[in-house]
Amino acid sequence: MPAAILTSPAPVQIVLDTVHARNPHEPEFLQAVHEVVESIVPVLDAHPQFVDGGILERLVEPERQIVFRVPWVDDGGRLQVNRGFRVQFSSVLGPYKGGLRFHPSVNLSIVKFLGFEQIFKNALTAQGIGGAKGGSDFDPHGRSDAEIMRFCQSFMNELYRHLGEHTDVPAGDIGVGAREIGYLFGQYRKVTNRHESGMFTGKGVQWGGAEVRTEATGYGAVFFVDEMLGVHGDTLAGKRVGVSGSGNVAIYAIDKARQLGATAVTASDSSGYVVDDAGIDLGLLRQVKEIERARISEYAARRPGARFVEGARPWEVPVDIAIPSATQNELDGIDAETLIANGVRAVAEGANMPSTPEAIHAFQQAGVLFGPGKAANAGGVATSALEMSQNAARQRWSFTDSEAKLRAIMAGVHDAAFAAAERYGRPGDYVVGANCAGFERVAHAMLAQGV
Ligand code: GLU
Repeated sequence: MPAAILTSPAPVQIVLDTVHARNPHEPEFLQAVHEVVESIVPVLDAHPQFVDGGILERLVEPERQIVFRVPWVDDGGRLQVNRGFRVQFSSVLGPYKGGLRFHPSVNLSIVKFLGFEQIFKNALTAQGIGGAKGGSDFDPHGRSDAEIMRFCQSFMNELYRHLGEHTDVPAGDIGVGAREIGYLFGQYRKVTNRHESGMFTGKGVQWGGAEVRTEATGYGAVFFVDEMLGVHGDTLAGKRVGVSGSGNVAIYAIDKARQLGATAVTASDSSGYVVDDAGIDLGLLRQVKEIERARISEYAARRPGARFVEGARPWEVPVDIAIPSATQNELDGIDAETLIANGVRAVAEGANMPSTPEAIHAFQQAGVLFGPGKAANAGGVATSALEMSQNAARQRWSFTDSEAKLRAIMAGVHDAAFAAAERYGRPGDYVVGANCAGFERVAHAMLAQGV
């Protein structure tokens, strides 16, 4: 990790030293902690009670970490064992809330970085939700539906005891979509004998799910771009947008960008990216990635004028706006310099921590509008909170109403980050603004509720 650049005296440095000493093998978690801690120093300077109350010391240590065995039997009759995680980071603002990620890269460091980010993201939404994350190193790729079901059932056989609509409410993330949520929710219902709709979000709309939840992260990221541009009297109309990823976030970012008059020209997966100057054809992208679960090269093979670039990331394509929506650290300092040289004007993180610290620094130095994930992708979890509200009230709101609520929440997230950046002397710096605004809300609640 780079040495911390701090303007405040010992307490912050001591906290960072302790975090490093306690978690020496968790680079992603340390990266996320540094990003937050280094930017909230002005909040600590303005609120000595936060330092006296040990808010930072407490926040960097999860309230609870659950690591468990997930045994299951594959289609060949062989026993497989994966590792499951749930890190319940903070419940000071509400029940633990955050997604589950199934991907071979998942380990404690990844889950902790995501859970840590989730605390502040969820605080920014002002929806009364705490922060958590979970998942497994299970790789769903190439597995049959029956294998996915058996894995999800085994995963829930252990995790159910830690969940509940007022305790901890998971949702999807990478590798956990509608199919997995169905199996996970179904197993919870069977083992607990409770149809507890509010214990999981992202459910199918026919069985307790909310309108717009599927679209919410991607739509919200584009709304966030619109808010950032709006401050400068600009709009999305006529802009070229570069999107990475081809999952839920990317698909609906592409969709909303088009609805607001922009053209999304790229999409990607771990094998490479496609560029389509006519605008990504969403029907074809969904057919290839969601229905056939095939490689993104299939898109270019079937779409005249589109090109597949193997083993590369889409940041070499000139765009006005970039929305990285794949995974952590997918856009580095060199990628950022390329985007800047090609005239990028705004970046909004659809994924969690997709930009490296060097990339963020480069964007900010160049005056590019930069919306960090915990603000720009907060629409997903915010709409999960709307789903929880609907479940508690046994209601179902319309698509139009739900989208209007999402739009208002994203405007609120933007304005909270924007105002905090101004208040702490860093106008236009949404990284500082989002971290300070989220941290303030969490810290006040922690002080009020005692140690
Ligand atoms: N996984 C999403 C996120 O990173 C959504 C979490 C949720 O809806 O609980 O925020």
